[in-house]
Parts: sequence; C-alpha cells; structure tokens
Amino acid sequence: MNRLWAAGTLVVLLAALAVVAYFVIPWHRPPAPRPDQIDALGQLPADKVARAREFRSELRPGSYVSMVLGLVIALVIGLTPVGAWLVTQAGRPFGGHWLAQAVLGGFAVVLVAEVVTLPLSAWRHTIVVRYGISTQSWGAWTVDLLKSYAVGAVIGGLALAGFFAVTHFAPRWWWAFGAAGAAGLVVLLSFVLPVLVEPVFNKFTPMPDGPLRTELIELAARDGVPVKDVLVADASRRTRAVNAYVSGLGPTRRIVVYDTMLTEAEPAEVVSVAAHELGHAKDGDVLTGTILGALGTAAAVIALFLLGSWGWLLARAGVGSIGEPRAIGLLIALVTLAGLAAGPAQAFVSRRIEARADQHALDLTGDPSTFEAMQRRLGTVNLSDPDPPAWEHLLFASHPSTVERMAAARAYARGAR
Ligand SMILES: [Zn+2]
Repeated sequence: MNRLWAAGTLVVLLAALAVVAYFVIPWHRPPAPRPDQIDALGQLPADKVARAREFRSELRPGSYVSMVLGLVIALVIGLTPVGAWLVTQAGRPFGGHWLAQAVLGGFAVVLVAEVVTLPLSAWRHTIVVRYGISTQSWGAWTVDLLKSYAVGAVIGGLALAGFFAVTHFAPRWWWAFGAAGAAGLVVLLSFVLPVLVEPVFNKFTPMPDGPLRTELIELAARDGVPVKDVLVADASRRTRAVNAYVSGLGPTRRIVVYDTMLTEAEPAEVVSVAAHELGHAKDGDVLTGTILGALGTAAAVIALFLLGSWGWLLARAGVGSIGEPRAIGLLIALVTLAGLAAGPAQAFVSRRIEARADQHALDLTGDPSTFEAMQRRLGTVNLSDPDPPAWEHLLFASHPSTVERMAAARAYARGAR
C-alpha cells in the first residue's frame, strides 16, 4: 500500500515536471544560421582562437579523468560494503548513534571522493594560472577550497541530518516527508544563496552612481523589470574572466556584474550583458529552475525509496535498508549516476533558455552590433572555444557557443533591416 502511494506520487510529480517543462521551456528556438557562424569564426583573430583551443584542450584530460574517477569512486563506495564500513567507522566514537553516522558518515564518503580528485583540481588551477585567467595564489585558492568545503558541510550536514531524521522517525512513510523536505530545501536555497552563500566568496557593492548605472536602471524600467540595484562583484580577486548573472528570488533577486566586466568592456557592452540578464529576470528563469529543481528532487527521493526494495542493490552495499545511514554510499552512487545521466538534458534546456535571453537583449537594446562585439569580447577574454567540438557542446555546454551567439545577432540585424 505504502509503495503504491509512493509510485503514484512519483507518477504525479513526473507528470507535473513534464507539464511545467513543456510550457515554460522555450524548446523551439530559431537556429543560429551556420553560414553566419562560419563567417563569424573567420573574422575572429586566428591567434586568439588557437590559444583558446589550446587552453581548452589542456583542461580536457583533467576534467574527464576527474568525472570518470568521481563516478568510479562513487560506484565502488556505493555498490560494495566499503560505504557501509566508512559510515560505521565515522559513527563509532559516538556509539554508532544514527545522527553521527548520518552526518559524519556522509562527510567521510564525500571526503574520500574529494581527496582522490583534489590533485586534478590543483592541476586545473596550474593551467588556468598559466593562461592568465586565474589571478589566485595557491594560498587564495586553498582558502576558496576550504570555504566551499565549509559551505558544503553546512548545507550537506543539514540535508543529511534532516533526511535521516525522517527515515529514522518515519521508517515507512519517509519518502513523503523526505520528498517534501527536499523540495522545500531547493526553494529555500534559491532564496538564500545570494544573501548567505555568495557573500562568502565575493564582496558585492552597488554599482557607483554615474551614466552607466543610470542607463542600466532606465533599461530595466523600460523593460518592465524593476531593479533596485545593480551589484558589482569583486571577481578580479580570483579571475580575469568577465561575466554577469542574475540570482535569487523575489526580495533577494539581483543582477550582478563582475568588476572585470567594467574594466575590460565598453559601457555599451555592459548594457548589452545587462539586457541579457534582464531577459532571465523577465522570463522568470530562476523561478523556472527552482520549480523544476524542486519537482525533480522530490521525484528523486521517491525513486530512491522505490529502488530501496531492490534486494540485489542492498546486498551489494551490505545494508538492510536504503533508509539507514549505512546506505549513504549507495545513495550517493545512485545520485551521481542520475546526475551524469541528466546532465546533457539540463545543458540542452539551459542553452535554450540562454538563447531566449540573448534574443531578449537584442530586442531590448535593438543594437545587434554591440551585442556581437560583447560576445566576441566575452569569448576572447574568457578563452572559450568559439566553435567547440559538436559532441562536447551537446553534452556539456550551458550556453550557445560564441559563434552561435554572434550568428544570432547577425540574423537579428538582417531581420531588423
Ligand atoms: Zn544567461
């Protein structure tokens, strides 16, 4: 009966996910004409393109080895008794109390994977420093790493404690409370990340008064997106890359521009970037991501519950039930697998949403040539491959490529004439 309810709820959640996705994701976008892309690529400085491709190919082995290694470790820990052993050891100083096993055991499992892939992260750092993208010393890099561990420990610790409290106190119906709690956590994080987590890594200051700030606020007003402030992040403390983004929901919504953007780009290009970010705000893309994330996370919790009756899986991990802390390794293995499998679909959706925001920027500014100049600058300064290998783009790219974005501007300019 319990399992039937769970299966029914899962079907309802997946149906809701499909309906929301169907209506809010811009599935069909006009393709960026390939001839324009090739033309744009030909006009980019050849030495810069070569250097960007060299940079990307140096990063590639580390990223893929890290991805495969992360998966292998997750599977070894999750599908053998190693995970259960780790959790037992972590809980031992506390008499094997379930809460100690849940939190410390979870940390132990994640730490093993982290330690094994840490040399690859360090290797990556040497490459981004050598190419002049990162401006961080090893000291600053280590501080960032420790900060991200601390943030992960707080959020992960709360999630682990909450999840296993529910499995402990409601051993039959934990899937229902767990799904609701996980969805709630996703929504809460969307609200608090910009005000609680982002300031751990960067300082945000209101953009100083001046013609640019006035223009951006006017642009937002013209767009019908009330923006109280445009914030500048001190990104230059760790990178030369330029970027902007929108985050938060309701009262915590903000548009953030990297300080590097203000020193590297022309003011008109900053306006173009801000117009793209306003597109995200106007179309409610953060809200869309939050709703899809909450539904997906709730569905995942129930799917884990249902998988928990698969005896073979439990026998592999050497646990009696998927709801006990000793099954953390198994849970992480399943979540890692699901994450890798969902990655390309998430990237596809993200590219569509980014293309819509680009279109919004073109419509709002009516200035395709500045938009194109801005894309050229973004690609050149950040050393992104302007026209990356198709398979890599399909599997991992969260944004359209530089030449696709330049081509979209050219198609817009033709249409506007
Ligand atoms: Zn965007």
